[in-house]
Amino acid sequence: MQGSCLCGGVVFDLTAPLRPVIACHCTQCRKQSGHFWAATSVPLSAFRLIRFDTLAWFHASPQAKRGICTGCGAFLFWQATGSDTISLGAGCLDGPTGLQIAESWHEDSAGDYYLGPQTQADTLHGACLCGANRFSLPGPMGEVRACHCRQCRKISGHFGARFDADPATVVWHARNTRDHIGPNNGIRTFCPTCGSGLTFRQGDRFAIEAGVIENPTGGHLARHVFVAEKADYYGLSDGLPQNADNGSEGTQA
Ligand SMILES: [Zn+2]
Ligand SMILES: [Zn+2]
Ligand SMILES: [Zn+2]
Repeated sequence: MQGSCLCGGVVFDLTAPLRPVIACHCTQCRKQSGHFWAATSVPLSAFRLIRFDTLAWFHASPQAKRGICTGCGAFLFWQATGSDTISLGAGCLDGPTGLQIAESWHEDSAGDYYLGPQTQADTLHGACLCGANRFSLPGPMGEVRACHCRQCRKISGHFGARFDADPATVVWHARNTRDHIGPNNGIRTFCPTCGSGLTFRQGDRFAIEAGVIENPTGGHLARHVFVAEKADYYGLSDGLPQNADNGSEGTQA
């Protein structure tokens, strides 16, 4: 089975049976994925990098390293120091996986916008995992759209979740970003050091990755879009409205 980042700078293949998927809601995975991460795992002997031109490793702690693409900001890999296995984002895999999410870790670090109760928030504080990017904007977060399109899956390692905002109200306290421009002229802005996705802009639409907000948000997951491109290893059973494509807004989430 093959997998890749969105821009194709990182491509890998796997030859062993894959471990069932673990969803991780820890703060580090939430910042890098923009929502929460969902990873499978294989022995290193069954893992081969085919392309790695843009692969970089970020150490959030001495215990592990996190593999990102510096070309598109995708969060692909996680490896414990000295381990002979590697975890990889299930959303980065191509084609049917035959996998299922078997466990959910660190739910106490999950966002209030998807594992309530929602909390009021006058100001939202966002930051990437390495801290090179910090911003704030008026709260609350409001409605969050989960996007299951192929692009969001490749970037996040699972699926995307964003809320719309007025870019004029965003105050950057520290900024070092890079842009990846997608096939529909969607501009994904991310941190080139740690790979955390930050914002998405397409035409007049501006949205912020929900997972990078650090404080209670006052937001709530409201809709799933591009579910026709959803991966096979997870279901959507929360009862929220679903659109096969982008809904009716005329832009890609
Ligand atoms: Zn890439
Ligand atoms: Zn960063
Ligand atoms: Zn998307």
